[in-house]
Amino acid sequence: MGLEDKYDLEKLRNRTMELVLKKIEKLMEERDDFCKCENCILDLVAYTLNHVKPFYMTSLLGPLDGGKKEKRIELEIDLAIKGGLKRIKEHPHHEDNKNISKYD
Ligand SMILES: [Zn+2]
Repeated sequence: MGLEDKYDLEKLRNRTMELVLKKIEKLMEERDDFCKCENCILDLVAYTLNHVKPFYMTSLLGPLDGGKKEKRIELEIDLAIKGGLKRIKEHPHHEDNKNISKYD
């Protein structure tokens, strides 16, 4: 029997992932200068997650240090998103460029 059968691993939360998704969602509402097709957005999410340390916690506990670590992670995420945006603008991964001509 594996760990995932014995214990409820759904209780593990990747806090970094949650923050990244929240921030990118907000960015998509606020800005119109980058492509929002599925390929580019998934690319941006993957790039950002690859450049920020994962931060797992259990859903039962809040941050143990009063959110100090989360603040630090948020700064890392902001930087990573900036790098990711630059990358998808320079090398978009979508096939069809028609839809983004308005962002040029
Ligand atoms: Zn795109």
